[in-house]
Amino acid sequence: MVTFGATKVTLLQGDITKQSVDAIVNAANSALAGGGGVDGAIHRAGGPSIMRECDRIRAERGGCATGSAVTTGAGELDAKHVIHGVGPIWGQASPEESDRLLAGVYATSLRLAHEHGCKSIAFPSISTGVYGFPIERAAPIALATVRQTLDDFLMDEVRFVLFSAGDLAVYESALSAFAGSS
Ligand code: ADP
Repeated sequence: MVTFGATKVTLLQGDITKQSVDAIVNAANSALAGGGGVDGAIHRAGGPSIMRECDRIRAERGGCATGSAVTTGAGELDAKHVIHGVGPIWGQASPEESDRLLAGVYATSLRLAHEHGCKSIAFPSISTGVYGFPIERAAPIALATVRQTLDDFLMDEVRFVLFSAGDLAVYESALSAFAGSS
């Protein structure tokens, strides 16, 4: 088992909509308009109440900036909250700026989870699907940002739910670089 300080860090291959955790993170778009991939899966499994809340946030604040995140309820999912994080589209900004924006999504998501009293959180691999961020570059950023942010916003468990065996292998290799160094 890998820990970052007092936090258990779990990697698994699976469907994030099936996880029982306090907060499930969505890879959303800045309009919070739903879509394919993990976003579509979360709205399908969670039911229409999540989109109603997204609609309200869009009406009030115009959506969510890239590199940030917003929180809604979790509808029928086995979670208390969905945190909609908006990752960068690879190629729209410089690689360094994209790294910073991706890190911002993970850090903001952990902060929001903490503010909502969550002790466990599940992340998908944000931006590495349709948004095209190379997963070999994204995985170490995700892990390093989480490890750093946990100093301020402690969780019992952070779970990374990877959809494919290949993605899981990339995260495993990135995590092994951190193992034992907590
Ligand atoms: P983005 O637009 O941020 O790239 P995507 O949803 O296209 O988001 O992809 C992000 C990652 O989520 C991809 O690795 C994709 O394979 C994965 N994914 C898709 N559906 C699920 C799901 N139900 N559970 C976990 N991961 C998923």
